[in-house]
Amino acid sequence: MTDPAQLEAALSPVAGTRATARIEGSRASIILDVSGLDASEHDPLEARVRAAALTVPGIETVRVALTSQRTRRLSIAVASGKGGVGKSTVSANLAIGLKARGRRVGLVDADIYGPSQPRLMRVEGSKPTARDKVLQPVSTPYGVPLLSMGQLVAADQAIAWRGPMAAGALGQLVDANWGDADTLVLDLPPGTGDVQLTMIQKHRPAGAVIVSTPQDLALIDARRAIDLFQKAGIPIIGLIENMAGYACPHCGEVSDPFGQGGAEAAARELGIAFLGRIPLDIAIRTGSDAGLPPVAGNGPEGAAFAPIADAVSRWIETEGR
Ligand code: ADP
Repeated sequence: MTDPAQLEAALSPVAGTRATARIEGSRASIILDVSGLDASEHDPLEARVRAAALTVPGIETVRVALTSQRTRRLSIAVASGKGGVGKSTVSANLAIGLKARGRRVGLVDADIYGPSQPRLMRVEGSKPTARDKVLQPVSTPYGVPLLSMGQLVAADQAIAWRGPMAAGALGQLVDANWGDADTLVLDLPPGTGDVQLTMIQKHRPAGAVIVSTPQDLALIDARRAIDLFQKAGIPIIGLIENMAGYACPHCGEVSDPFGQGGAEAAARELGIAFLGRIPLDIAIRTGSDAGLPPVAGNGPEGAAFAPIADAVSRWIETEGR
């Protein structure tokens, strides 16, 4: 009996992540996703896949079925220089905000160090199912299906993952059955490690949003994250300043103990767009902890996310490809 991993290893150099294979006895059944390819490329690719499968010992016949997802899907990476700056909070609210602006959105939580999206999106404890080894995202109350590293492995184990394992898991999340989703929001781990590199090299996000606190901006980390994407030719959609100023829980007024405008100036200096500021607001934390993302409610704490979702939505329509 042929080992499916052997077949996968033979197919991956010719078809990347486009081929999904099953083995029954000596027969390989392969589903080949030709989305985005020119029709003239279909036959040559199918022939190469067929030939590669036949090189695997024990495979005698090969059946190839072509599929194409009609919708073109792009992904938006949400990144930060370091942890705890609100990257996951922004990702969840951006995903819901884009959905409210008419996009069909899926959310990928690739933050191996702190996969918090199941809690933020109110589906804590949920487990995705798999069909033909392809993961099925979990539905959330906000109309944004979700897959999280935290659903694949207990959170306290994920942190011990070695780079290649995390990179492999990322592939499973991105190449899941996202149905008709046209936009994936990717909540990346903080920093510039293996998951980011795999994401950039293999999955090519259309653009990246960088989240930073006012203090973080002065540090080298946020700039390093920006640099990583720019060097790889991935456009920076813009910078979001989170925990900017303090929203008084009594009167709602935002005060600015550290002064204002630093992030905008930094964005200008770096030559990237400034997408907006989100105040430090207790209601944002309590809502997030309770699985009630601010943009999904009617409270004033959701307001700061709206212009950001508007800006990203506009970027997708004009620049996204
Ligand atoms: P990261 O993904 O960058 O590690 P999180 O989104 O998990 O950061 O945010 C870290 C903590 O800060 C969470 O408890 C979150 O609820 C809280 N938080 C994030 N943004 C804000 C904000 N603007 N106001 C108040 N609390 C916030």
